[in-house]
Amino acid sequence: MTTLKEQLENRIEATTRWENRRQYAADGPNMKNLWVLACMDERLPVDEALGIRADTPVGGGDAHLFRNAGGIVTDDAIRSAMLTINFFGTQEIVVLQHTGCGMLSANGNDLEAALRNKGIDLDNIPIDPSLPELSLADGAFAKWIGMMDDVDETCIKCVEQLRNHPLIPDDIIISGWIWETEFRRLRAPDLTAATRAVSQPTAESMGVKGKQPPRWS
Ligand SMILES: [Zn+2]
Repeated sequence: MTTLKEQLENRIEATTRWENRRQYAADGPNMKNLWVLACMDERLPVDEALGIRADTPVGGGDAHLFRNAGGIVTDDAIRSAMLTINFFGTQEIVVLQHTGCGMLSANGNDLEAALRNKGIDLDNIPIDPSLPELSLADGAFAKWIGMMDDVDETCIKCVEQLRNHPLIPDDIIISGWIWETEFRRLRAPDLTAATRAVSQPTAESMGVKGKQPPRWS
């Protein structure tokens, strides 16, 4: 039988290990050796969707969680994935996107026009203010925004991009998932599923006219 004294000592040791895990590099991974790339949308409950505790602060720590607009593969997503996978013991990637996403709700060209109408010089934008070496080619701003035509298509594309990226080793397990915001349920990306008829998987289904700048297709 374990005494309470021993249980408390074990708990304190485990908590100290949890607090200091990053200094152990690959020997101090998060609980599930997992990196999650998810949309920043406030209606996307990452923990509920995946059945993990990535957001929970104390006692959580199941994953390294990266959120951006859309949950898409960007340069900073690649940077973060590269670090956790190559140096902090992560072995699996999950991409989580969702229906009704704001990234389906407008055309990237219209957003660019709206910013230009505000008088912003989009031809000289510091993409990363601390890294002026990183810049966009002329005419690439609307594409850089990353608006989507179809969330399932984009999710599949993002998984492919990670699988084929030279900074992500071939043995990393990578999967993509769609959270149906309307039904609070998870499904695999699927370009033909009947469920798509009652959700909002495309920009067209959200009333957007015209194709997006060609980033995903
Ligand atoms: Zn979203």
